[in-house]
Amino acid sequence: MTTNLLDFYGMSLAELEEFLVDNGFKSYNASQIYDWVYQKGLTDVNEMSNLSKALRAFLPGKFHFEFPVIAEEHISQDDTRKYLLKLHDGHLIETVLMRHNYGNSLCVTSQVGCNMGCAFCASGLKKRQRNLLPSELVGQIIAVSNRIIERISHVVVMGTGEPFDNYDNVIKFIRIINENKGLAIGQRHITVSTCGIVPMILKYADEPIRSNLAISLHAPNNLLRSELMPINRKYPLENVIAACEEYFAKTSRRVTYEYILLEGVNDLEEHATELSKLLQGQNCYVNLIPYNQVNEFQYKSTDLDRAMRFVDVLMKRKINVTLRKEQGSDIQAACGQLRLKNPL
Ligand code: SAH
Repeated sequence: MTTNLLDFYGMSLAELEEFLVDNGFKSYNASQIYDWVYQKGLTDVNEMSNLSKALRAFLPGKFHFEFPVIAEEHISQDDTRKYLLKLHDGHLIETVLMRHNYGNSLCVTSQVGCNMGCAFCASGLKKRQRNLLPSELVGQIIAVSNRIIERISHVVVMGTGEPFDNYDNVIKFIRIINENKGLAIGQRHITVSTCGIVPMILKYADEPIRSNLAISLHAPNNLLRSELMPINRKYPLENVIAACEEYFAKTSRRVTYEYILLEGVNDLEEHATELSKLLQGQNCYVNLIPYNQVNEFQYKSTDLDRAMRFVDVLMKRKINVTLRKEQGSDIQAACGQLRLKNPL
């Protein structure tokens, strides 16, 4: 990477304004440049026709516009697309594009590898090598939207890694993509998913940009949850739930609880009842997720009948619940599966 140049995709609008003002230009020039780069897709300053001559003479050689390079593209039958992206230092990450009737949603990766060690998740099979920079998070959107020549309207930080283990960079990323003159991805269209790092949930509740929060729950009691998700030993279920209640009190945004259905492990009627009791009275959603099977693990996906029985129990107890349809299983879209096959 060209280190003496400023990393454009990692700069907030405020930082760009400051840089320009420090160099004798106007702060509104930052919005103009953001507009050219993010909305018109141009990085050649000579083509930014509304900038002054002096500014156009100043800008060359100040920034680099590097973003991850697409190494592989896998297109599933339902048009879910999985990308293997190469970072400047050779690390490989995964990004998944999902097509919805409301727009294109991108599932971005926040770390190279992951240290959370969830028992069912392929990402954790490779330990964290490093955090992604804000520009590498933004760059996933740039790379994919350039490829499909379409706008990405929704972002979920649910790829490899624990976003709250890379908190500052993830928050900066959200600020950059939410910027009106930039990618203008609305705060309601951005969701961060965490395995439940309590102090960061509380911090997130105080952020000025109110993007959504999803919690990977996956079990209705501490015994089972600690077995599936080691992080639960540090931040037990009751503390996670309490933090989410505080998040709701502060933001009025409903939390989504993700719950992967694992056959015979967490999908019995008694689990559904226990889950209902745990969430009773909380303004939240439960998103039941079909498990994408991973060769390295013995866990199996719950069949539809059993999943529907689980849904019934929750509905009878007045818990908002949806059963997510499986996408992209034919292209190994589950977390970390593609990267795992690669030697790097
Ligand atoms: N670390 C964060 C975000 C990344 S994981 C978190 O834990 O939320 C994103 C979601 O995918 C989590 O809910 C995770 O538990 C789930 N997941 C992991 N492996 C999966 C698989 N094989 N099939 C379905 N969902 C999986």
